[in-house]
Amino acid sequence: MGTVKIDDVRKSYGALEVLHGIDIDIADGEFVILVGPSGCGKSTLLRMIAGLEEISSGQIRIGGKVVNDLHPKERDIAMVFQSYALYPHMTVAKNMGFSLKLARTSPAEIDRRVRAAAQILGLENLLDRYPRALSGGQRQRVAMGRAIVRDPQVFLFDEPLSNLDAQLRVAMRTEIKALHQRLTTTIIYVTHDQIEAMTMADRIVVMNGGNIEQIGTPLELYDEPANTFVARFIGSPS
Ligand code: ADP
Ligand code: MG
Repeated sequence: MGTVKIDDVRKSYGALEVLHGIDIDIADGEFVILVGPSGCGKSTLLRMIAGLEEISSGQIRIGGKVVNDLHPKERDIAMVFQSYALYPHMTVAKNMGFSLKLARTSPAEIDRRVRAAAQILGLENLLDRYPRALSGGQRQRVAMGRAIVRDPQVFLFDEPLSNLDAQLRVAMRTEIKALHQRLTTTIIYVTHDQIEAMTMADRIVVMNGGNIEQIGTPLELYDEPANTFVARFIGSPS
């Protein structure tokens, strides 16, 4: 189950606290977007959910299980980063299957999962290509394919579209939405782009300076922003 429960989570770097008691309750299958200005703590929170960063206090549960002390590999998650360096010397298929190979999955199972993910992403005809022969959008799809083959309950995205040009970014939003509908998994997605948040999310978490200003559906934030920060950020007239 892809529920994620974040309970009074704090993070300090040395004496500096950068996240001040974060509470978020995410339902199985929900598409939740963390949005807020640069430096507000979005990536730190996502990295703590992934297990790439230790939490200073509080509790994170994924699928009902406390994961505070679990290694990233022991968590039912896969992460797609902003800088999705593909292995240049490996084909698309090899790039997508590599983490499974490291996990000693059988070659037949790797092949099956890579083909299934390629079909979902429209990469069937590109499996033998090398990254240098792919467009930006195709590369981004391969990066998502690497996450999909692992079949996680929860996908974590950190600004996956910020390196793409504006036109491609809009197209990829639609693709990621469609992907969410097909996979029926939970997605937690970080962006500083409020349009991306408003068009893609089931619910939006508006962050500012290590705190949550408001959590709500795009419509709720637009109609009833909790304060002027949210109103300005979302761009609603108030
Ligand atoms: P966002 O992703 O919203 O732009 P981050 O989560 O990257 O913000 O950063 C939140 C705050 O934590 C920032 O003030 C940043 O400078 C600080 N920070 C992030 N990582 C570290 C680190 N490894 N050491 C010290 N400070 C950090
Ligand atoms: Mg960030």
